[in-house]
This record gives sequence, C-alpha cells and structure tokens, in this order.
Amino acid sequence: MSTRVAVVTGSNKGIGLAVVQALCKQFEGDVYLTARDVGRGQEAVESLASEGLKAFFHQLDINDLNSIINAAAFFKEKYGGVDVLINNAGIAFGVADTTPFAVQAEVTLKTNFFATRDMLTHFLPIIKAGGRVVNVSSFVGTRTLNQCSPALQQRFRSEDITEEELVGLMQQFVDKAKKDEHKQAGWPDTAYGVSKTGLTTLSMILARCLSKERPNDGILLNAGCPGWVRTNMAGSNAPKSPEEGAVNLVYLALLPPGTTAPHGKFVSDKEVQPW
Ligand code: NAP
Repeated sequence: MSTRVAVVTGSNKGIGLAVVQALCKQFEGDVYLTARDVGRGQEAVESLASEGLKAFFHQLDINDLNSIINAAAFFKEKYGGVDVLINNAGIAFGVADTTPFAVQAEVTLKTNFFATRDMLTHFLPIIKAGGRVVNVSSFVGTRTLNQCSPALQQRFRSEDITEEELVGLMQQFVDKAKKDEHKQAGWPDTAYGVSKTGLTTLSMILARCLSKERPNDGILLNAGCPGWVRTNMAGSNAPKSPEEGAVNLVYLALLPPGTTAPHGKFVSDKEVQPW
C-alpha cells in the first residue's frame, strides 16, 4: 500500500500551521505544509523541525490555477492521490479597512469561495477511497445565511441546489456589490460572511455528489469551524489559541475508517450544527 498523505492549504501560519503540527503528531503518513510563498512555507517547516516534527513542503497558491494543477499532479504521481485534504487558506479584510466594499467582495470571494472551489475541482478526483476532506468555514457563514433574504436562504438550504447554481449566486453577490445593489438583492453587507455561506453550501453539495458518484469509497467531506481563534486574521482578543482552533478540524480529518458520519455537514466543536 502506498504511503498515506495529508495536505493543508495556507498552512505557513495561524490555524493551518497548528493543523499541520497536530497532524504531524497524529496522522500516520506524510504531512504537507503548503504555502503560496516558498520562503514563508519553508520557514514554517523549519519551525516545526525545531520542535522535532517532520512536515514536508509543497508550494500551493490557491489563487493560481497552475499552482493547483501542479500540486495535484505531484500528489497523484508521488502518492497515487491524497488521503486527507484540509482547505484552510482564506482571507478577510479587517473591520477598519477602508477598501471599497465592491473590491472587498470581489477579492474575498475570489480566495475563500472561487479558489477553494478550484482546489476541490482538481483535488476531489484524486482523493483516495476512505479519504477525508475538510473545508475550513466559519460560524460567520451561518450567521450570514440567516441574514440573507428568505429566497436566498431557501436556495442555500435546499437539497437540490447544484454547484453551478451556487457559483451563479456567489457571482451575483459580487456583481451586485459592484453596483452597490447587493442589499436590495437580499444579500447582507459582509463579503467574508457570504464567502463562508458559499463554502459551507458548496461542501454540502459536493458531499451529496460524492455519495452519489463514489458510493463505495467511504469519503467524508465536511465544512468545519475552528471557532474564534487568535491569528493575524482574527486578532489577539479571540478566546482560542491556534492549537485549540485546530482540534475540530483535525477531528474531521481523522474520522476513523468505516465511519459514515458526519458527511456534508457544518461541524463546530465536534458537533453537527444547524444550517
Ligand atoms: P491567517 O493567520 O491570516 O492565515 C491565513 C493563511 O491562509 C495564511 O497562511 C495565508 O498565507 C494563507 N493564504 C491566503 N491566501 C492564500 C492563497 N491564495 N493561497 C494559499 N494560501 C493562502 O488566518 P487564520 O485565522 O489562520 O485562518 C485560517 C482559516 O480559518 C481561514 O479560512 C479563515 O477564514 C478560517 N477561520 C478563522 C477564524 C479565526 O477566528 N481566526 C474563525 C473561523 C474561520 P500568507 O501568509 O501567504 O498570507
């Protein structure tokens, strides 16, 4: 049997780095710390080495389709696929940031929704039987869902929404934000929140597809929330350390063989959350 492999995006710092650190201790196989910047990634690998932990490195910028395609080809060639994928890379504009909302909407959706979807498009076909996929979403995405118009809420919660319909809705949010018409169209005033509503919904759609298309492969795909965590993104007032934020994500990544649930859920503190 080939060596098992776990891949974590955006893991040179913050929650992603803490996930790699935990996987180095708990996952039986090779663990890949990936980063868009080679220097920052290698520095993080060295910081783990100084703690006696062995992580491997591969460059991966989720906003660069070639980088995604190269990485997927590398894991297919070297390991025959991927056993554990944690889509952690994400961005957020600070609350005090004065960048126009139209730009915040486009840039935030680009990374957190569209680029993460590109990752899933190219990596899901190489996820091995028994694989685990964790999309790092947020409780903010659930709060944002509840602030959408009833019509949008109905679509995000429906069992028959397709990936194409969801992509269309996310693009509609960006287009409306550019014309300052998003509120009239039923969207709340949060680009980060909408990106995570989209990512959680995408996780539910793709889990249903996996169950249908690969029913015997036992792959579990979920959206997970780390909680509110002290990182560059969330600042120093958050209650959880990155290590504590990693716990729920690592739990989802290491659901034991033969487990059938959770799958296609939004999970916080190891509990399936209402959607
Ligand atoms: P962070 O400290 O800002 O780290 C974000 C990581 O993502 C960095 O390594 C960053 O790389 C990377 N990244 C950004 N864009 C990328 C791209 N295009 N390609 C590859 N990597 C990219 O943030 P964090 O708090 O650890 O957040 C990690 C995840 O948890 C995010 O998805 C976030 O939305 C989610 N989350 C966080 C909280 C919280 O309270 N912190 C709560 C809920 C969910 P660079 O160093 O190169 O910028």
